[in-house]
Amino acid sequence: MADFDFASRIIDIPDYPEPGVVFKDITPLFADAEAMRCAVEAIAKPFQDAGITKVIGPEARGFMVGVPVALELGAGFVPARKPGKLPRETVSVNYELEYGTDTLEIHADALGAGDRVLIVDDLVATGGTAAATGKLVREMGAELVGYGCILELAFLNPRPLLEEDGSVRFVSLVQVQ
Ligand code: IMP
Repeated sequence: MADFDFASRIIDIPDYPEPGVVFKDITPLFADAEAMRCAVEAIAKPFQDAGITKVIGPEARGFMVGVPVALELGAGFVPARKPGKLPRETVSVNYELEYGTDTLEIHADALGAGDRVLIVDDLVATGGTAAATGKLVREMGAELVGYGCILELAFLNPRPLLEEDGSVRFVSLVQVQ
């Protein structure tokens, strides 16, 4: 599984969403049943014995990867959503991303002390979205165990931000240098 060819199922889209940006389209990987199954298993495996109780996926592609990873780990799933989408009391975090700034919200009662959390997204670029979600996890009193994603834009160097002093694990399946 470690040598599964995930990269051939990711398409580069030049100048999207704006000139000079090369967007990574992961939807062909999602559409391939074997690739999707291998990706979910490969992200979950390093955390199998980590006692994960909740997987958090940032809207929207984080839902697509996070839900099956949560099922694989026997954990619950918690969505981190754009402002105004969750119906009950929320906690929120503002963060910078590759193409601007944004806010994510989580239901205030979704996490707490005793939870061990894995944050999952399709792609990590600067690491800003993931790190902001991790900050929120800690503010809610839960323990941040790690991050998992399919694609890491390694040339943007997100790893030091996410791994901190080495106490947080960051797993990516494909690294773009
Ligand atoms: P970061 O916060 O800079 O790490 O950006 C990661 C977030 O932006 C994730 O939620 C991704 O889904 C999204 N993202 C950034 N660049 C791309 C891309 O090239 N393809 C797909 N999603 C992207």
